[in-house]
Amino acid sequence: MSQSYESCALCDTRKRSIEYELPIGTIVACERCGLVSLVDSETSELVTCSYDAGYYHAAAGNASVGYTDYFGSEATSRDSFARSLAVGLTTRFPAARKTLDIGCGGGYLVRALADRGLDARGVDTSAFAVAHGVEGTAGRLVEGTMSVMADVAPFDIVTMMDVIEHLPDPVSAIRGAFSFLREGGSLVVLTPRYGGALLQRQGTEYVHFNSDHMYYFTEQTLSAVLRKATGSDVATQDVLSTLMDWHVAVPADVQHKYTADRDSIIAVVTRELDVLRGAGLLQFVNHLLDVLSATTITNQQDIRRVDDDEVFDADRRHEPASV
Ligand SMILES: [Zn+2]
Repeated sequence: MSQSYESCALCDTRKRSIEYELPIGTIVACERCGLVSLVDSETSELVTCSYDAGYYHAAAGNASVGYTDYFGSEATSRDSFARSLAVGLTTRFPAARKTLDIGCGGGYLVRALADRGLDARGVDTSAFAVAHGVEGTAGRLVEGTMSVMADVAPFDIVTMMDVIEHLPDPVSAIRGAFSFLREGGSLVVLTPRYGGALLQRQGTEYVHFNSDHMYYFTEQTLSAVLRKATGSDVATQDVLSTLMDWHVAVPADVQHKYTADRDSIIAVVTRELDVLRGAGLLQFVNHLLDVLSATTITNQQDIRRVDDDEVFDADRRHEPASV
């Protein structure tokens, strides 16, 4: 049977090789760039998923996709990971004040960042998730696609935690998220790692094979998507190494989750100052030196002038009142 696949979101070609046949569809890899996606076995189109109540609570809907009990039994572990991330982000980006979590779900990360004093916001297309936002997120979560946050931009940090694999066009999603950053701000992307030890061990039972995941990224294809969307070369790293680099004392449950149950990678893309992009590094450094030396000279003149004024004023204060 000859298959006609959609154009690859990363490189535009239509050729795929089959990686796994699953009950939920077929896992295929782009023959040119290696980007992996889940397609319907009959139509070869990307699978889609709805994020209603059934997605967040298996008893209310389809037990084969989504969460068992997102706001119930899973709340503690979600909160624990969110708090670890929040510690890491505030350590890594100490000057950050305003953050946006795209695909915020019930707002666990938004709450954890708000608790650390940040102006934290979240946006999610799921009306159910936003309506059931966790305690402490009132007024911080907005229902909709990320574009509804354009009026509130720019942000110091934009996060996409386990989100990019759910979106039909990962390149334009990253491009949109990146455009919400102020100059010098950073985009943090976390996604399951495809091709790692967990996949090798679990095969067709791989924990991340779900019908809500349209795409699966290796370190290489995640970097390629980020490069295409932002123009930056970005390295990726596993979750625990990243948290340790950010000086997080990783709690046992988070440690266990990312060693035994999950394999995920994180990438950080920083939006350069426009002057760096436009004028080049050398010119920027020269500009900085000019500013610095001008400031120094101005300060010296100010100091001298203040000294003179003080002496003058002091002398005048001792003058006898005029007659
Ligand atoms: Zn491709």
